[in-house]
Amino acid sequence: MNDQTTPSIRFYGEETIPVELHKVRIVQKLHLRPVDERLDAINKGGYNTFLLNTKDVFLDMLTDSGTNAMSDNQVSSMLKADDAYAGSQSFYRMEEALRDVFGKEHILPVHQGRAAENVVSQVFIKPGDIIPMNYHFTTTKAHMELNGGKIFEILTEEGLKIKSNHPFKGNIDIQQLKDLILQYGAEHIPFIRLEASTNLIGGQPFSIQNMREVKAVADEYGIMIVLDASLIGENAWFIKQREEEFKNTSIRDILRMMCGFADIVYFSSRKVSSTRGGGICTNSHELFLKMRDLVPLYEGFLTYGGMSVREIEAMAVGLQETTDETVISQSPSFIEYTVKELDARGIPVITPAGALGCHIDAMSFLEHIPQKEYPAGALAAALYIISGCRGMERGTISSVRNENGEDVLADMELLRLAFPRRVFTLSQTKFLIDRVHWLFENRKLVGGLKFVEEPEVLRFFMGRLAPVSDWPQKLVEKFKEDFGNSL
Ligand SMILES: *Cc1c(COP(=O)(O)O)cnc(C)c1O
Repeated sequence: MNDQTTPSIRFYGEETIPVELHKVRIVQKLHLRPVDERLDAINKGGYNTFLLNTKDVFLDMLTDSGTNAMSDNQVSSMLKADDAYAGSQSFYRMEEALRDVFGKEHILPVHQGRAAENVVSQVFIKPGDIIPMNYHFTTTKAHMELNGGKIFEILTEEGLKIKSNHPFKGNIDIQQLKDLILQYGAEHIPFIRLEASTNLIGGQPFSIQNMREVKAVADEYGIMIVLDASLIGENAWFIKQREEEFKNTSIRDILRMMCGFADIVYFSSRKVSSTRGGGICTNSHELFLKMRDLVPLYEGFLTYGGMSVREIEAMAVGLQETTDETVISQSPSFIEYTVKELDARGIPVITPAGALGCHIDAMSFLEHIPQKEYPAGALAAALYIISGCRGMERGTISSVRNENGEDVLADMELLRLAFPRRVFTLSQTKFLIDRVHWLFENRKLVGGLKFVEEPEVLRFFMGRLAPVSDWPQKLVEKFKEDFGNSL
């Protein structure tokens, strides 16, 4: 399968661009609406890009979750799915693929990544426990706190720097880990959580060396390691690219090694296998039994876990394809291209380029907007208005309020522009870069946002906001001045 391993082709001319090592065989028509219609759409959507209808979206860069392109082999495998409530052959094929790719014996299927977090959190976390991790993911934190746990993020100092050339910004700081264990006691730490390609800080990977060190500490104190493998393929790719020791190791071996450090591996297959669904796996029969009974309760019988058997079939194929470098390098190479181009135009982006998406630092892009007026949310809305490209706010709107009702300001205010695998072309990517550039030149026109409707849990999904002034109209006027009535 790994017959072609060069994602970035050098041209005879000067340019080096990421060339698509796939061809398009099924397409979906896109709509690029006029700017006035986009302004209407974002008004109706409460200035929250989650609330847009995709009929009004040109490039949907909200997320890579469930939106990666499937391969011909994945789609064709869906035809042979075995519709059985119990004992479906599709499940056994998926189980085989997981044993092969992750090297884990026992598999619990769940309907998506957060369902795995629900099971793991309910089984292992008691009130008063603490969970050290490189960084949280929104749904992870919510489930852990729901079960009375408290999370501690112990990234190294590099992790939260916007500009860096550290290859592994997702690494755990070993000294902080030891300090936490001494302070709280190993008995109050059900597990250490490692998230591959740390989502909320810009898709930044950790190294195998860091995993080794975390494992040594975990073993010393008898603490489990839980690996969130939702973005493990890209993390493995970065290890191969950036960690000298592994430059000649196959992705298959790197994946096995990464999973080998963990007692429990869980994942969203909406990402890792370019399908929809999720799972939990372990080599410990004892851990498996502890978690097993929650699956029929919340998800479904143990051979489908709330997933369609067609998705399960495609998951088996997708997991195998995660070992193919041309598959897992596609999104990182387009992201790297975008990051370089934006950086060259002076636009503040997270470096080095990570997995999942290009992350724009809204705090410096819109430095005139105070954090309590949600610069990342404002940037997401503004970019949609002027381009039809939909990104996701990853900042204070995605955070929570404290007991006094004040916003807990996020560490970073990011606009994430996701690059689902093998979905966008280079000309579309260039359009995005051009429009972000225009917006940067006109950034002073963008103003802040305020909540008008605010859910108590995971408010970023359904919350509605409004601009603090008439800045959207002014932005549209300038857009029309520069582009005529064009799109
Ligand atoms: C997406 C994601 C999840 C949650 O998965 P869903 O399938 O969306 O529920 C958990 N962890 C990480 C790191 C993710 O990226």
